[in-house]
Amino acid sequence: MRCPSCMEDDDKVLESRAVRGGAAIRRRRTCLRCGRRFTTYEEIMREDMMVVKRDGRLEEFSRAKLENGIQRSCLKRPVSMRKITAIVDGIIEEMENRYDLEVPAQAIGDAAMRELLRLDEVAYVRYASIYRHFANLEQFVREIRDVRKQGAEQDSAARSARTATEAKSTPEQRQ
Ligand SMILES: [Zn+2]
Repeated sequence: MRCPSCMEDDDKVLESRAVRGGAAIRRRRTCLRCGRRFTTYEEIMREDMMVVKRDGRLEEFSRAKLENGIQRSCLKRPVSMRKITAIVDGIIEEMENRYDLEVPAQAIGDAAMRELLRLDEVAYVRYASIYRHFANLEQFVREIRDVRKQGAEQDSAARSARTATEAKSTPEQRQ
């Protein structure tokens, strides 16, 4: 490994240690010429992920394609680029963990919809309208109603959890 200070390609490994649950190895090295210490990481390279389309065709996974789809759904919504990047990273990591080399297109779409639903209702509906191929308007309206209902249930669950906490803390505050 070439030394970052003197560029000499002659070093000694001082310490090797498994990190990230064994997914990578961290090595502390020292340059035998100038004594500079530096660190390298060694990790497993994944072969390119393939996407299995609905009709069974295989397609190379494209990060840009996934990112563009989410970005388009978030157009003029209060969602930062950073948030979108984080969602894409999360989906890729999830797919790598759940599948081997071939990932069903539907699994990627479902994961994207789940993340958008947490993030922004409008972005979710936009994404769903492209991805889900609704047969008619009624189906689309039903989907939105279900999402609204889920959201309301989550809100009321959060509210009752808060109320329970307040009820518990009130007697202590009085003392
Ligand atoms: Zn050096």
